[in-house]
Amino acid sequence: MKDQLISIVLPVFNEEAGIQATIDTLLNYIEQQEEKYELIFVDDGSQDKSVRIIKRALEQHDNIKLVEFSRNFGHQLAITAGLQYTKGDAVVVMDADLQDPPEVIPQMIKKWNEGYEIVYGKRMQRDGETFFKKFTAKMFYRTFKKLATIDMPLDTGDFRLMDRKAIHQLLKLHEQDPFVRGQVTWIGFKQTSVQYHRQERLAGETKYPLSKMVKLALDGITSFSMKPLQFVNIFSIVPLVSGVFSLGYMIASGSFSLAGVGVTILLFTLGLLMLSIGILGSYLGRVLDQVNNRPRFIVSKTEGFEERNKGIHH
Ligand code: UDP
Ligand code: MG
Repeated sequence: MKDQLISIVLPVFNEEAGIQATIDTLLNYIEQQEEKYELIFVDDGSQDKSVRIIKRALEQHDNIKLVEFSRNFGHQLAITAGLQYTKGDAVVVMDADLQDPPEVIPQMIKKWNEGYEIVYGKRMQRDGETFFKKFTAKMFYRTFKKLATIDMPLDTGDFRLMDRKAIHQLLKLHEQDPFVRGQVTWIGFKQTSVQYHRQERLAGETKYPLSKMVKLALDGITSFSMKPLQFVNIFSIVPLVSGVFSLGYMIASGSFSLAGVGVTILLFTLGLLMLSIGILGSYLGRVLDQVNNRPRFIVSKTEGFEERNKGIHH
């Protein structure tokens, strides 16, 4: 509809290779739409020319805005920060590498106009991503479904449209290490999906090395499931029962030289103990983070949010 404003939030980390093409594609897309749009780029501490390229575009287009982080705080916090600066009646979050095609946005808007407050993109196919990435992602979503207290849809990333009402609620969550797609499920509202074909990255490399993927997965699980904590209790049965059996065996056979059995039990116990400590550590880390109560990110500068009188662009 004509008077609707749609905000698009794009987290950017070292995307100099493709950011210009992303900007051009989006501006071209916006030209053809009847809704008004604002593009909010969140620079997550890029060390390349990304910021310079965005600033150049910002000077020519009133609807381009930039939020700069003082360092790399991560994809999820870049999204969270971007949401705070949106003014739109609806907000779309998408990658800055054109992996999420803008052509899907009108389908999302259609569902939104039908009354859905959250419309997420469901990836039917993923091009140009390694087998390892697709496999681990698939495993993660299925494991998450088993563990989590929320019913997060399978195979969805952060590409989605959210109504202002949902954004308002989402911004009330103050987790230090947010798992945004989980938070979106958690807040509820009327949710639906549109299916799309996830494109190959336009240029450059993925900015999600294994270490960041692992962090995302752990943040997701520890923020929405207490089950791993309960596993500790279940696992502790193993050494306990083994202990009882070995004691029983020793008494029954009258033989107390069970070095082999002893070592096995010791190893098992040690392994389980370490695992338990690891799980506790993950939660403890989250608790500490929360107790520290640091600001979750620091915005060093914003540009393009002031009233400009060049007229509103489409
Ligand atoms: N990104 C970010 N901070 C980071 C890592 C990534 O803002 O620490 C951005 C990145 O520029 C991209 C989006 O988040 O726009 C998703 O990252 P990427 O495309 O590398 O992930 P993939 O699509 O490979 O899962
Ligand atoms: Mg991407």
